Amino acid sequence: MSCRNIVLLGATGSIGQSACRVARELPGRVRVVGMSGFRNIGRLAVEANRLRPAALAVPDAAAEAELRAKLDYQPAAVFTGPAGLEQLARWEGADMVLVAIVGTGGLRPTFAALEAGKDIALASKEVLVVAGQLVMAAARRSGRRILPVDSEHNAIFQCLEGRDPGQVRRLILTASGGPFRAWPEDKLLAVTRQEALRHPTWHMGEKITIDSATLFNKGLEMIEARWLFDVEIARIDVVVHPQSIVHSMVEFVDGSVLAQMSHSDMRFPIQYALTWPDRLAGSLPPLEWASLGRLDFEEPRYDVFPALNLARQAAEQGGAAPAVLNAANEVAVVEFLAGRIAFPRIWQIVTSVLERCGDRPGGDLESLLASDLAARELAWAEARR
Ligand code: NAD
Ligand code: MG
Repeated sequence: MSCRNIVLLGATGSIGQSACRVARELPGRVRVVGMSGFRNIGRLAVEANRLRPAALAVPDAAAEAELRAKLDYQPAAVFTGPAGLEQLARWEGADMVLVAIVGTGGLRPTFAALEAGKDIALASKEVLVVAGQLVMAAARRSGRRILPVDSEHNAIFQCLEGRDPGQVRRLILTASGGPFRAWPEDKLLAVTRQEALRHPTWHMGEKITIDSATLFNKGLEMIEARWLFDVEIARIDVVVHPQSIVHSMVEFVDGSVLAQMSHSDMRFPIQYALTWPDRLAGSLPPLEWASLGRLDFEEPRYDVFPALNLARQAAEQGGAAPAVLNAANEVAVVEFLAGRIAFPRIWQIVTSVLERCGDRPGGDLESLLASDLAARELAWAEARR
């Protein structure tokens, strides 16, 4: 069994930190050869001093100076700026790039890594929501794999292994339902930042935590699944499962269903993506069935949380609609976190921006990014009204 050389894009985030832990626990199997950080340079330095990657990337020269002052070794390269992220993604010593940058920042580095012949471990679902068709085509061209890190997609990937795609009837994504799963609709208007950031089952970055509260996270994941597994959106369903033990399911044509289960700890899917196709013994705890007691499943409240239907519509519409939905949502989440808009305004803004520019055509990456920008501007204007 060989050692895999990995670049971690977004090493200081929630996924990045879990990935560092996985790497520290699997020396000889996972070697971190590159890391990027953005705001938290202190954290990047701590992790770099532990794992000693040859190459690093930071946003600018000031961050580079701060990083170098905190490193207790001499890296082979420190790249800066957005171009530096792409250089790191192409780092010749790497076999695989983990993309764990929040939002669309991971898009260009993902293409750079694929073009340079790297496999991708993909956490950043926004990359596939914006440009799924182009990313999957780039992977096919380069003959590289995209291994899903998102727990639902990692689960489906595990359930599909070795199966004939023609035997799949539908994919069923599980959703925790977020902190407001059972709240009456009229209370959502007064939701605070703190309440929305209190996720019942997962500890994650702020953006995805808000997305989990609105259910946009699950909407984005439906589109992510559509591209990863080449299954049309009509055959992708969502069920609420508050315990987050069943991470997702595949239903086959004979009515049989395979599910993947584990505790809700992202180290499970991260390790599987980084070491695939091997399963390695690790320090992660197994499920204690008797103490779990019960697993619940319920229908999502589509009327109260419109994100799921909006995402389905955007996927059916195609073209730039998913990119527009994603961009409007990113802006609305920032505005909500900054205390400038009420919680339900998030989906109201997305709805309005989709109505106004969701019909833009798809096309190449530059045209999708132009639609992304147009949607952001409309969303900003909408949020300030
Ligand atoms: P986070 O906010 O904790 O970390 C984000 C990382 O991105 C940080 O390392 C930060 O330095 C970097 N970053 C932010 N803006 C950047 C920019 N403009 N340029 C370069 N780097 C930048 O987020 P997270 O929770 O780790 O999520 C990362 C991605 O993984 C998201 O796309 C999220 O949807 C996905 N994801 C996360 C989880 C989870 O459990 N946290 C689960 C599934 C999928
Ligand atoms: Mg997920």
